[in-house]
Formats: sequence, C-alpha cells, structure tokens
Amino acid sequence: MGRRILFLGPPGAGKGTQASMLARALGVPHISTGDMLRAAVAAGTDLGRRAEAIMARGDLVPDDLVVALVEERLAEPDAACGYLLDGFPRTIDQAEALDEAVGEGAIEIALLLEVPEDELVARLLNRAREQGRADDTEETIRRRLQVYREETEPLVDHYGDRVVRVDGVGTIEDVFARIVLTLARTP
Ligand code: AMP
Repeated sequence: MGRRILFLGPPGAGKGTQASMLARALGVPHISTGDMLRAAVAAGTDLGRRAEAIMARGDLVPDDLVVALVEERLAEPDAACGYLLDGFPRTIDQAEALDEAVGEGAIEIALLLEVPEDELVARLLNRAREQGRADDTEETIRRRLQVYREETEPLVDHYGDRVVRVDGVGTIEDVFARIVLTLARTP
C-alpha cells in the first residue's frame, strides 16, 4: 500500500475527514494546506493576513505561498517515510512544484473522492451551520466549486494512472472502508 498519497476531490467531498482517518491508520502525517492556512489566519501571521480575504472569497491562495508552506512541512522529519496530502496540489503549477520537490513519480496514489454536486452543496451548507467556517456561505461555495472545476480537476489528467476513484457518498465509516479496500487492492 502506498505511503505517499494525495487526496483529490471537490470541496465538501470529505477529504479532510477521510484523510485524517487514513493518515492515522497508515501512521503518516496528514498535511492539509487548508488547515495550515486557517491556523495562519487564526494566529495572525504574515501569511495569514495575506490569505484571509482570498480564502473568504473562495479563491486560491497564490501558488508560491502555498508551495513554500508545503515544502517546509515536507522537510520535517515525520514526513520522511510518507505523508498524506489533503487539499494540495490544487493547480497544475502546484503539482509541478511538488514533482520538483519530491521527485516525479514520488506520489504513488492520487485518491479522487467523488460526490455529486448537489450533495456537495448540501454538505457544505450543513458544515456552515455546524462550524461557522467563513468560506462556507452559499456564494463562496459556488465559487469554490467553480475554482475546483477550472483549476484542480485538470490534475486528474496530470496523475493519470495513479488516480484511484472512490465513491464518496455514504456514511463516514462506509466511505473509509471503501478507501481502505480500494487501497489494499491497488498495487
Ligand atoms: P480546504 O480546507 O482545503 O477546502 O481549503 C480552504 C481554502 O484554503 C481554499 O478555498 C483556498 O482558499 C485555501 N487553500 C487551501 N489549500 C490551497 C492550495 N493548495 N492552494 C491554494 N489555496 C489553498
């Protein structure tokens, strides 16, 4: 089973939840650029101040800032034997920067969580009620889905035969079981 994995999929597909469960199961760090950026905003760092308004609009933080953040994180000792990337890369430029940083072909699996669009919107609106995330308003949700289709979906081609599709509809436990089974069957 691969230990250098990334999660692809639209906002609301359950990447964060599933990536955190899978990282624990595999014993590798869960590296979420969304979580890192939200922490930077909360801490009021220079990066956080630059990212805050962009994130609230549902747009992408500039590639160079995110790439620097990930490169720094991947250099930590706990990432030496594997990692699970969640929410990165989100653009072709980020994917190319990652290839350069870790070596082309280092990523073994790009796990694509698939959920139909109307369910994504319903889940994100629900999360807005539960967590009050600034970027879960209806307008921002629409923008984030559009950004996903335009900027991030082309990564499915970039990763080619390393893409493994998993149906993301169902309970958290059902989807997790599906992911584990699918990875176990992936050479
Ligand atoms: P997420 O939690 O992954 O949905 O990310 C929340 C927000 O953080 C996104 O809508 C972007 O504004 C920003 N963000 C997270 N990851 C990236 C990335 N790899 N590149 C650019 N922006 C990102």
